[in-house]
Amino acid sequence: MDTLTSVIVANEHIYGVAAVTTALVEKARGIHGASPTAAAALGRLLTGGVLMGSLLKDAAHRVTLQVSSKGPVRSILVEANGVGQVRGYLGQPAINVPSRNGKLDVRGAVGKGILHVIRETGAAEPYSGTVPLASGEIAEDLASYFVQSEQIPSAVSLGVFVTPEHTVAAAGGFLVQFHASIDDDLVVHVEQALGAVPTVTTLVREGYGPQDILHRAVGGLDLEVVKQAAPAWHCGCSQDRVVRALLALGPQQLSQLISEQPETQVRCEFCATEYTFSQQELSQMMADAMA
Ligand SMILES: [Zn+2]
Repeated sequence: MDTLTSVIVANEHIYGVAAVTTALVEKARGIHGASPTAAAALGRLLTGGVLMGSLLKDAAHRVTLQVSSKGPVRSILVEANGVGQVRGYLGQPAINVPSRNGKLDVRGAVGKGILHVIRETGAAEPYSGTVPLASGEIAEDLASYFVQSEQIPSAVSLGVFVTPEHTVAAAGGFLVQFHASIDDDLVVHVEQALGAVPTVTTLVREGYGPQDILHRAVGGLDLEVVKQAAPAWHCGCSQDRVVRALLALGPQQLSQLISEQPETQVRCEFCATEYTFSQQELSQMMADAMA
């Protein structure tokens, strides 16, 4: 089971959250038939989504992370909510990008582009911010988003380890944020610790849980746990939602669909579930909606 812990450190001046996401990233890899590099790119953004979701209050509050890139992967979309549920997909899951220095080349797969973040927290207007990708490594791109768009100095580390058999054996990440009026010595202490912390996949493979990872990341400072959750892959799509989306096309387009093909298939991009409607079902749907 995947786990997430968020903590406050030093009288709430530092916020930290870490997650082990191996199971949900492996599930995403399987659903999308993603190649190792694509699985690593998607897994890092899914984990980033889980970490950012921890800043939200409940299941109705949602964060969407959208990467539009010029690299082979083209696009990655992730949605996460405040209770650790996450889903996502990528534009080109089958990409074949050669490894660099013996590591999966996520930067090579993503390349240049933009990161668009939308946060829906019950306010009338969702918060949104867009930043250019800092490196295409995803973690640096999220850190750069926090600094540029939200003015919160943040360190982000994300990792996905894929075995030679192409399954995800370890995935996870952490986010450490510095809030105002923090002591300089403390900043230096934590920055040094952050600089020395092994990669997340190394820690996860050694059996570290989220709290142990955070303890390493902040250089052994006392942690006060504020939230624990079990992040998981969850796609909220359903027959009902697909029906509503079809009805939203309007009577004219729907009539055209019905007349043109014996069956209409709608595929959920997130989880690849296919919803199939016969001509008769669609006609009935339209009649019900009109009534
Ligand atoms: Zn779905």
